[in-house]
Amino acid sequence: MEAKYDFEKKFRKQILQCSRCGFCQAVCPVYGSTHRPGLNARGKMLLLKEVMDGHLELNDQLSESLFQCTTCASCFENCPSGVEVPEIIKQVRKDMVNIGSCHPAFEGMHKVLQKHTNIYAEDEPEDFERERNQKAEYVYFIGCVGSYREDEPTLETLDLLDRLKVDYTLIDEVCCSGVLEDVGYNINPELARKNMDLIFDTGAKTIITGCPYCFRTFNNKPQYAGLKEKGVKVVHITQFLQDFDFSVRTDKRVTYHDPCDLGRHCGIYEEPRNTIGKIAPNFVEMPDNREGALCCGAGGGVRGAFAKNSIAMARRRLEQAEEVEADIVLTECNSCVHNLGNAKLRKQKFKIYNTTQFINQLMEEAE
Ligand code: SF4
Ligand code: SF4
Repeated sequence: MEAKYDFEKKFRKQILQCSRCGFCQAVCPVYGSTHRPGLNARGKMLLLKEVMDGHLELNDQLSESLFQCTTCASCFENCPSGVEVPEIIKQVRKDMVNIGSCHPAFEGMHKVLQKHTNIYAEDEPEDFERERNQKAEYVYFIGCVGSYREDEPTLETLDLLDRLKVDYTLIDEVCCSGVLEDVGYNINPELARKNMDLIFDTGAKTIITGCPYCFRTFNNKPQYAGLKEKGVKVVHITQFLQDFDFSVRTDKRVTYHDPCDLGRHCGIYEEPRNTIGKIAPNFVEMPDNREGALCCGAGGGVRGAFAKNSIAMARRRLEQAEEVEADIVLTECNSCVHNLGNAKLRKQKFKIYNTTQFINQLMEEAE
């Protein structure tokens, strides 16, 4: 039988390779917050097999399962059969968009980025009291969440860069549009072109990103290949900061949340820990960390489309911070900060910061 959808053409072998072992169940944040087997990776692969066998139609009725995935890659990390679930899900979403069966929230993101230059359809970003589009050694690229929703952590990150005397400039950045790849669409090449032109005009040879997703997008997506061609390097701020000496420390009990986009998707685990090790000797790991870190629930468009479950996933992560009696939860992703911050546990004692924000506060106090 000829394959009807692209997901089948590309991933049929992998979907059939799913042995239904269920190893993915214990690590899937969506299953963890809903306890519904149809929503974990195995459930999704079973549904897709039924579609390939012609027993089910790809339509709106499957959208709750197929669109409710943060693309966190925990399942892939733990799958003995090597099933690339996040890639399969992203392709299925494209197939669903092609047949006009997209989750309305995902469709909304696409529409917003056709008209606006940021994912929130806002007119003006914070100016962060910095000049933009200057000649500099580095471009600091904030990302939409940091620009429009988490301006306080962003301002403190910029203050830290100033304290460390980094020669950087902001640009009139537009959404990198990487998120569109997760929700069934493609990166907007016009937005990519605009970002690259603004970056080239600064003369900077390195972009520092605050957002792990922008970091992934700039480094891996063909629409941004021009950066590499012009010798522009892209680093995440956790990589950039690991060689600095901050000369400050805290006695507080500190833990670290690995953002999925930085950890499992980019393999960046040790750099932030090296930095935190310098400032927080009283460091403690949460039970699930590094490759096994529990997702905050924000990714893959889930925060917008399934807000209640997204918050439930974030709460499960916060419970781990509570379990290890942390005073401070550090991460380095404005999306994680946003979702974990919105989740708040009852009688929560710890605070949540980006690592850069926290270090800046320590340096400020020491001055
Ligand atoms: S861990 Fe992999 S093989 Fe096992 S059920 Fe999940 S997706 Fe299938
Ligand atoms: S990518 Fe994450 S959310 Fe999606 S099925 Fe796998 S473990 Fe669950």
